Amino acid sequence: MNQVTVITGGSRGIGAATARRLANTGHDVAFAYLRDHDAAASVVADIQAAGRRGVAVPADTTDPDQVTALFDAAAELGEITGLVNNAGVTSPIGPFVDLDPADLRRVVDVNLIGYVLCAQQAARRMSAGAAIVNVSSAAATLGSPGEYIHYAAVKAATDTLTLGLAKELAARGIRVNGVAPGIIRTDIHAVSGVPDRPDSAAGRIPLGRAGEPDEVATAIAWLLGPEASYTTGTVLRVAGGL
Ligand code: NAP
Repeated sequence: MNQVTVITGGSRGIGAATARRLANTGHDVAFAYLRDHDAAASVVADIQAAGRRGVAVPADTTDPDQVTALFDAAAELGEITGLVNNAGVTSPIGPFVDLDPADLRRVVDVNLIGYVLCAQQAARRMSAGAAIVNVSSAAATLGSPGEYIHYAAVKAATDTLTLGLAKELAARGIRVNGVAPGIIRTDIHAVSGVPDRPDSAAGRIPLGRAGEPDEVATAIAWLLGPEASYTTGTVLRVAGGL
């Protein structure tokens, strides 16, 4: 069966690495992004260079209508066989008492509500053999004190989404898993106000360095694929020992 995978946040970082890796292993890819049109175009070009079909859809995953449009665009490539719920945001690193309610709401909106809306579309459209991967964070079990506790809490919520959805969809032959990255070298740290975090935090990572986006993409690709046929309801930690 032709593999058609939807990725949210496919223009940069972990999502872009996943799009490229999946294209190289035979997937057609439809991905959502928000505003970086040049980055999105470059990922589409790489998907096509790998001989697969790629479509970039400007769609905010927090908006149900835009999510429907994303999945409609993906369905034009064929039956949807995979979803990578990846589009996520943090907010400025700082003490819990300084958290701005607007930042809190955006983190909940993108990292949780967006994941639920996309998983719902996927669950409606998928059939046996399909798989969903939710990108969580090692923060879900570390709590991120002094940094972004609200983000960690929301990532823990996505782990419960993974667990419940895996059990609910198992009877239909659809698998649902998560990956929990540690500190990965992407632009997300600039939004947190600490662009050099992958290097400045290296000393507290047991493997002594930040991870690269493709090291997470590898895990996502495995969880999506047939070699993970008996794996569902679990969260694979890709965090260098954190
Ligand atoms: P990133 O480099 O900042 O890239 C984020 C991507 O998501 C971009 O493609 C962005 O699009 C897109 N995006 C953001 N909000 C969106 C929305 N509402 N709708 C659609 N697309 C949206 O992020 P990343 O570091 O790769 O993170 C990916 C996932 O991994 C997130 O869930 C994050 O929480 C998780 N994670 C990351 C790390 C890390 O250290 N990097 C660690 C643990 C977990 P534009 O390009 O258009 O802005």
